[in-house]
Amino acid sequence: MSGIDDLPPLRQVIADHGLSARKSLGQNFLLDLNLTAKIARQAGDLSGADVLEVGPGPGGLTRGLLAEGARRVLAVEKDTRCLAPLSQIAEAYPGRLEVMNADALKIDPAAHLTPPIKIVSNLPYNVGTELLTRWLDPGDWPPFWSSLTLMFQKEVAQRIVAAPGSKAYGRLAILCQWRTDARIVMELPPEAFTPPPKVRSSVVHLTALPQPRFPADPKGLFRVTQAAFGQRRKMLRASLKGLAPDIEDRLTAAGIKPTQRAEELSLEQFCALSREIARAD
Ligand code: SAM
Repeated sequence: MSGIDDLPPLRQVIADHGLSARKSLGQNFLLDLNLTAKIARQAGDLSGADVLEVGPGPGGLTRGLLAEGARRVLAVEKDTRCLAPLSQIAEAYPGRLEVMNADALKIDPAAHLTPPIKIVSNLPYNVGTELLTRWLDPGDWPPFWSSLTLMFQKEVAQRIVAAPGSKAYGRLAILCQWRTDARIVMELPPEAFTPPPKVRSSVVHLTALPQPRFPADPKGLFRVTQAAFGQRRKMLRASLKGLAPDIEDRLTAAGIKPTQRAEELSLEQFCALSREIARAD
């Protein structure tokens, strides 16, 4: 049986297994184990936690998570070429790594993990926001996970933590900040990856709040933010007119001027407005 010290360097793993990066799978690999350990540490103490990793690829971050003491890692990978190198890692950490060959969009990870659960991933860019949106809207709150530590394109990370009044402020900021504490904890240049992507990347850490920051129904908040930011240059009395016949009164009742625009409203105001509109339904 091999131990962790016998695991080959990641460049060799990639060469040995013919892991040429596929764009269609969003493959940009992290090969520096000091860097992957640093990313793993952003998730806090892992020793008492199960970790879900989506898209382990050749296993750089997986090794970081295990070396940083994760109780157990469930690694969900779509690309069958990565399975052999991942099973080598599983052998080096007996009983601590389960590899699942699946599309992360088609599985229910909670069924395979024991709380507390942390999600830590260098996400494939093509499905990153879709997965984040699902994790943030699991039906019941609190969700099955306690924190998310995720790599995104810098531009997406900025949308997650954006404040009112900024260009990046929109539905993603509302969705994330309503039920989590979200902050950018690391920035990485393109050269940190193989092959390098065109853009800079950021790691975002989101901690689930025990309950949403302000009361609102998720569907109502979704409808209001979709309509408001769908026509973000328009005044709210125009962009939201399809949501309630007396939208100007609803806006005023929520303490919002009908002439304001979406990006001027705080999260608290969006929640108040969604409650006002629900009252009118
Ligand atoms: N974690 C590795 C690292 O940091 O080097 C690889 C990260 S790479 C950005 C994204 C990984 O996600 C690839 O290994 C890719 O094959 C995998 N992937 C892409 N779409 C997926 C999906 N729908 N479900 C599971 N894995 C997926």
